[in-house]
Amino acid sequence: MNLKDMKRLIFIIAILFFSNAFAQNSKKVNSLLLEEVTIISPEKNDGYIGYILINDNRIKKVSKKKPRIKEGTKIINLKGRYIIPGLIDNHVHLSGMNGLTDDDIKDNPEIVKAFKEQLPKSYLYFGYTTLIDLATPNIKELEDFKKASIRPDLYHVGSGAVIGKGYGITNWSDTKPNFIYVDDNNQEIPNKYNPEDHSVKAVVSRIKESGAIGVKTYYEPGFDPNVARMPVPTTEIMIELYKESQSRDLVLMVHANSIESHGFLAKHKIDVISHGLWRWGNIVLEQGNEVPKEITNILDLEIKNKIAYTPTLQVINGLKAMAQANYLENPELKKVLPSTVLDWYKINKDKMYKEIFGDAPKDIILNSFDRINSQGKASLKYISRNGGVIVFGTDTPSSLTYGNPPGYNGYLEMKTMYKAGISLKEILKSATINNARTFKLDSDYGTIENGKIANLVVLKQNPLKSIKAYNNIEYVIVRGKVVKREILSSKL
Ligand SMILES: [Zn+2]
Repeated sequence: MNLKDMKRLIFIIAILFFSNAFAQNSKKVNSLLLEEVTIISPEKNDGYIGYILINDNRIKKVSKKKPRIKEGTKIINLKGRYIIPGLIDNHVHLSGMNGLTDDDIKDNPEIVKAFKEQLPKSYLYFGYTTLIDLATPNIKELEDFKKASIRPDLYHVGSGAVIGKGYGITNWSDTKPNFIYVDDNNQEIPNKYNPEDHSVKAVVSRIKESGAIGVKTYYEPGFDPNVARMPVPTTEIMIELYKESQSRDLVLMVHANSIESHGFLAKHKIDVISHGLWRWGNIVLEQGNEVPKEITNILDLEIKNKIAYTPTLQVINGLKAMAQANYLENPELKKVLPSTVLDWYKINKDKMYKEIFGDAPKDIILNSFDRINSQGKASLKYISRNGGVIVFGTDTPSSLTYGNPPGYNGYLEMKTMYKAGISLKEILKSATINNARTFKLDSDYGTIENGKIANLVVLKQNPLKSIKAYNNIEYVIVRGKVVKREILSSKL
């Protein structure tokens, strides 16, 4: 190497060194200290006043004493305020739009656009900072949700593992053929499908490849006894589903809400049942009486087999809302739904009612849904009193209803759980640590501890004293970014 080359080399090394130093400098850590706040973390028994130091998007340190901080650390004093981990809703559907059929969606692009823009903010407005999309017919729509500048963290289970041409979000069709092959005389599968591509193994491996954290299948023979039964999973399929899910570190969830379905699943190895046991057939809950033996036998087995129980009480209330005269006048709806969307619901509410309930009179709908709701609450209370694991999920939206408004539906679910007799401590656990552990997300979420993602909710009221605290939020902290609640409201 001659002298000229040597000089050039030194020059290049010098530039590399300085540009590297510059890059490190530009990666400055954003530090934030929350001080004198009552920390309510579900793995601890009681709240305590302390400090939370956040570096960028993670919790660096939680302590009772003020930690040493670097110069430039932003400080927010939260004296008199309460802080909890960001809430997790394990059962949402983000594709499509609440209450609109595919045709409605095509005909009303502006309404849909307004709804979608508000959607991530509505979940955050009620403190939901992590969502699990529990089966979507169109995974691309989740990518659209992810483009929002501020939004909850999102996980999904891909498209559902539908049994044959059975019940499920991806209802077996030529365009969405992710089904498990079953030999079914009622429903022949067209020749163009190769059964090998629809074995349990093939379906679970496709779901894993789509980036899912779990597999969702369905035990649903149908709701109308006058219609032919839909295919349901066999014991053999359940055993295989569990094996294939486990080996890929996927959580196995099953849709079920009746005696038949819960009764079948309670005997199998699965991780989560995605609805409560509210369809009791001919069994009646007499006022003031204990839950009947036919029901408790099933629930006992679910508890014994450590199957996590998702109450989803709002499924029933969301349908009932369609029969309630003044439902759309509730001022809370304006916080989570743009006015154009609310107006659309008001104009179309009779048409929407007819689509779900046909000509059934409203008082009959109200009465029967009240009965189903009290059955759901009784089952939930039994699970809670007997040591079952409750995981929080709303199923938003559960059907073509406006009665499951995003974000607000979570608050309503919590209120209904509370009415069912679930303690405030258990409600908090269900939406934080229980969901985080069950869905294997607890290294990042579920508690306020060193190293976790800084998704937090600052409340003006103590959530261990009043359920209303969940609608009395001051800030939502999303990956270390502090957001005033009002900014998230649809109506500013
Ligand atoms: Zn659902």
